[in-house]
Amino acid sequence: MSTLFEDTKTAFTLKSDAELERAYFLFKMIKSEPLVRIGTAITNFALKAHLPVEQLIRASVFDHFCGGVDEKDCLDTIEKMYEHHVHSVLDYSVEGKEDEEHFEMALEKTLKNIGFAKEKPSIPFAVFKPTGFGRFKLYEKITAGTALTDAEQKDWSRVVARFETVCKAAYEKDVPLLIDAEESWMQDAADDLIESMMEKYNTEKAIVFGTLQMYRWDRLEYLKNLHQRAEAKGYKIGMKLVRGAYMEKERERAKEKGYPSPICADKQTTDQNYDAGIDYMLTGLGLSLYAGTHNELSTMKVMELAAKKGLEKDNKTIWFGQLYGMSDHITYNLAKEGYNVSKYMPYGAVRDVMPYLIRRAEENTSVAGQTSRELSLLKKERTRRKKQGRL
Ligand SMILES: Cc1cc2nc3c(=O)[nH]c(=O)nc-3n(C[C@H](O)[C@H](O)[C@H](O)COP(=O)(O)OP(=O)(O)OC[C@H]3O[C@@H](n4cnc5c(N)ncnc54)[C@H](O)[C@@H]3O)c2cc1C
Repeated sequence: MSTLFEDTKTAFTLKSDAELERAYFLFKMIKSEPLVRIGTAITNFALKAHLPVEQLIRASVFDHFCGGVDEKDCLDTIEKMYEHHVHSVLDYSVEGKEDEEHFEMALEKTLKNIGFAKEKPSIPFAVFKPTGFGRFKLYEKITAGTALTDAEQKDWSRVVARFETVCKAAYEKDVPLLIDAEESWMQDAADDLIESMMEKYNTEKAIVFGTLQMYRWDRLEYLKNLHQRAEAKGYKIGMKLVRGAYMEKERERAKEKGYPSPICADKQTTDQNYDAGIDYMLTGLGLSLYAGTHNELSTMKVMELAAKKGLEKDNKTIWFGQLYGMSDHITYNLAKEGYNVSKYMPYGAVRDVMPYLIRRAEENTSVAGQTSRELSLLKKERTRRKKQGRL
């Protein structure tokens, strides 16, 4: 690890001793894959059975990974983080809802967050998830090339209208808008829509940002082709680069349905693909990068390439992003060095953000490898504080 990221005093500056202890306990628990699987099953059951577990979830995993249940809850933390030059991206993380009422709610939340971002220098981007604005099945059918029924066509035109509404608002308020990526079997429909929004609103600079999941072996080629189309038509590309959060699901579905897995063969290939994506984004013209990663080597690669290109640390076309509750050692140390860095700050009702929390727990088992990093840093900070007689 780079010495830059080893400064745990800076990394955990906002964590009280009690919060540090909670984080340490939490990561120790979710290190165990069987425990995560059992815990997930029990929690899902308890929520469905309306057992009173919300308080327990709130006091443990929720408060660590989420800013609160609504925007108001998050604002204090956002401003405290901003005192350390860490920005926030308010992420309405309610998932898996399939009705028009919830889609309208997600639209309202996104518009509200664009408004916050316009007012507050602490919030540089807004964000939304494609399936927050429309039914998964619609995206899936379009991606598969299956014709929609008349009723579905009407529903889809409402999805398009929601994309249009938020992208237009982002453009008018000059607030860049990140659009998340999800499962590969719905993503083409979202990508086509995002491309049409980039064409319309990214004429001067990147306002609309898509997301590339670089655990997919086809994404670099997709980026190159998109770049060619953008250059031909004269618009800019904004891209969030992540590795991807649905690996198990992707592999299982490919196996079950008998098509080649869209995921890179192994971790090393994903890492190479991610770094190749960064390379392409930073060497090409008219490309703005949001590097959403907890990987220190990829983060350093962005820093090195930007320096090589002669770009200043706070150049507005390069942003780093981590998730709230993870990799504070990267976030806070980057911020201290003067880089543009933000935390995705999820919020929503406890039971509605469960899919998000479960992904975080799975990502942090020892199998995925993130926990040992978090744990060793938390241990180091506990030792530092113990020496001061604090713990
Ligand atoms: C700001 C931000 C925004 C995000 N937005 C999205 C989004 O829109 N869509 C989304 O899907 N995810 C999103 N994520 C989640 C992200 O995909 C995961 O946090 C990320 O995969 C963790 O990887 P890492 O880059 O931190 O690096 P590491 O921890 O080094 O890599 C872990 C990742 O590598 C990949 N991997 C692990 N094992 C293998 C293997 N055997 N073969 C192939 N690949 C492997 C997986 O993607 C795994 O998650 C976002 C994350 C951040 C920080």
